[in-house]
Amino acid sequence: MSWDFDYCSVNSISNLLGENGLNMTKKFGQNFLVSRSALERIVSLSGASAGMRVWEVGPGIGALTSALLQTGAHVTAFEIDRGFCRILRERAFTREIADGKLKLIEGDALKTWTAEFEENGAPDVICANLPYNVGSVLIGSFIENRCLPPVMVYTLQSEVVHRICAGPGDEDYSGFSVLTSLDYENREAFVLKAGNFWPAPNVDSSVVVMKKKTQSVIEEKDAPAFFKTVHALFAQRRKTVKNNLKALKLSPQTIDGALEKTGTEPSERAENLSTAQIAALSKALI
Ligand code: SAM
Repeated sequence: MSWDFDYCSVNSISNLLGENGLNMTKKFGQNFLVSRSALERIVSLSGASAGMRVWEVGPGIGALTSALLQTGAHVTAFEIDRGFCRILRERAFTREIADGKLKLIEGDALKTWTAEFEENGAPDVICANLPYNVGSVLIGSFIENRCLPPVMVYTLQSEVVHRICAGPGDEDYSGFSVLTSLDYENREAFVLKAGNFWPAPNVDSSVVVMKKKTQSVIEEKDAPAFFKTVHALFAQRRKTVKNNLKALKLSPQTIDGALEKTGTEPSERAENLSTAQIAALSKALI
C-alpha cells in the first residue's frame, strides 16, 4: 500500500481533515471506525481475498477500504462526500486507482450503484460501515433490484441488525426482516459499542453477516409480486392481513381466495407470517 496512515488515531484523522479544510457531517452519517481489531474482524468475516470483486459503500477516508485492498481484492467504493473523495483520490489511493485495484464512484450510492451493477453485475462481496440514514434503504434496494452477492457484511445500528435477524413473532420482525431473509441467512456477528467510532454515535452498532441461500424462497419470476405483497402487508402494523392486502387493489374474491388457498387467517397479522408463508400468499394473489 502506498499510504501509511493510522486510521485508528483520532488525532491523525482530525489533523488530516483540518489540513484539507474538511469537517465530519452528521447528515451523511459520518462515524469512522477507529478500532483496528474491529476492522480486521469485519474484513475476515467478509471473506474478501485476492482477485475478488468487493463493493464498499461509504469509504470515508478509507479505513475499511485500505484493509480490503490489503487482501488483494478489487474494490469499488461509492462515496458521497466530495472532500473525502479528494483525499481518497489524491492522497490515500492514487496508485491503487491508477492500477485499477480501486474504482471510486462519487455521488449518492442510492443513485449510482445500479449503473455499476448493470455494467459489471453483482460483486462477490459487499462490505461496508453504512451511514445510519441510508443503511436499510440501500440494503432493501439491493435485494429488490436483485443485486445478490454471495456475502454481505454490514456495520449498522444494532436496532437495524436486530430487524434483519428477526423471525416471525419476534418484537423486531418487520417487512425488512422478510426482505432480508428472502435470499439470505443472517446473523449478528458482534456488537460494536459507540466508543469504537469517531465521533461516537448515540447508539451501539452491530456487524451483520448475510450469506446467500443456495435457493431463494421464491422463483425469480415471482419476485415483483412478492415485494408488492410485503410492502402492502407491513404498511400498517396494527391492521390485519386482509385489511392490509386491500392496498393491492385486487378484487375481494381474489384476496379471500388467496387467503383460503394458503390457509392464512384473514384476521392474522403480518408480523406472525414467515417469509415462506408470504411467498405462498403473493403467488396465490398475483
Ligand atoms: N468506511 C468508513 C469507516 O468505516 O470508518 C466511513 C463510514 S461512515 C459510517 C459512512 C460513510 O458513508 C461516510 O463516509 C459518508 O460520507 C458516506 N455516505 C453517506 N451517505 C452516503 C450515500 N448516500 N452514498 C455514498 N456514501 C455515503
